[in-house]
Amino acid sequence: ICILGLETSCDETGIAVYDSERGLLADALHSQVAMHQAYGGVVPELASRDHIARTLPLVEQTLVRAGCGLADIDAVAYTRGPGLAGALLVGAGLAAALAMAVDKPLIGIHHLEGHLLSPLLSDPALKFPFVALLVSGGHTMLLDVAALGNYRLLGETVDDAAGEAFDKSAKLLGLGYPGGPELARMAAFGHAEAFSLPRPKLHSGDLDFSFAGLKTAVLTRVNQLGANVCEQSRADLAAATQEAITDVLVKKAMDAMQRTGRRVLVVAGGVGANRRLREKLDASCASAGVRVHYPALQWCTDNGPMIAYAACRRIEAGLARPRRSYAFDIKPRWDLSELAEGETFEAG
Ligand code: ATP
Ligand code: MG
Ligand code: FE
Repeated sequence: ICILGLETSCDETGIAVYDSERGLLADALHSQVAMHQAYGGVVPELASRDHIARTLPLVEQTLVRAGCGLADIDAVAYTRGPGLAGALLVGAGLAAALAMAVDKPLIGIHHLEGHLLSPLLSDPALKFPFVALLVSGGHTMLLDVAALGNYRLLGETVDDAAGEAFDKSAKLLGLGYPGGPELARMAAFGHAEAFSLPRPKLHSGDLDFSFAGLKTAVLTRVNQLGANVCEQSRADLAAATQEAITDVLVKKAMDAMQRTGRRVLVVAGGVGANRRLREKLDASCASAGVRVHYPALQWCTDNGPMIAYAACRRIEAGLARPRRSYAFDIKPRWDLSELAEGETFEAG
């Protein structure tokens, strides 16, 4: 089966054509990062308008590159939620229009399931079950993934997400938006030992996370350093921040492996691109006899292929009933546990 996938949940327009036999045929991505940079964060109304301008041309371009027409597509998939309502509506609306035009079914995909399955895109040998560490801009969770669609929450953040901790700390350090990658770049020149920062919830005994206190600690250090802070101190603080965040992520992920007895760990979401996190997870997993898988770097952050791929897997597994009712259907707030409880996609 061949799926056209549209991702528009936040500030990336991602389009892909994925074929269950031939794999990823083509994809295109437009990031709005430059547009939102001036505001220090995503402006929802601007995001929606930009998706309106980009989505259809990118779909056309992707179909051409995939060497197929709309009529060759078996179903159109789009991100149903969670995400920004206006941004989601653009993808859902266009997906419905395209599907209706060629009388093909429509499938709404959970954005986090897309992230969760993204390591399988580049690593088809990867098999269920596994534990997933989902670390993105809006979420930080550990999940026990028994099978496709069977996601049990082991723990999650009680306040900020890991990506948010990177972004907010980066902002305090005077770096641009989104700060995660920039903070990581700066950290490479710093000495993490120069500052001692808290590791919230490191020994809490559960699998939950908390990053709000860390951000406050970074703010305190920034204020102590004052306006004339030298480059080296900023790099040191960046390194210390990255070390604190990744320490907690690694510790909790390894605790989750121990508790579940699973042998495979999968990392997904934008923070999964972080080099230091990968280094530390590689080391811990090697000594614990755990195999660890990461998505290809370009599939860590939001992208079209993960949505097309998730739709493909769901249809193949009989877990999706593509619908032919073309009313807009989005869920800006959508708990992953609702999927785990067997929510399929209602038939039209
Ligand atoms: P969600 O999927 O939870 O709705 P999102 O889609 O905004 O949120 P992603 O696109 O998965 O999140 O990831 C973006 C986040 O990843 C940002 O917070 C960004 O700073 C962070 N990030 C990306 N690359 C790196 C890196 N190399 N190091 C640390 N953080 C990074
Ligand atoms: Mg994004
Ligand atoms: Fe995302």
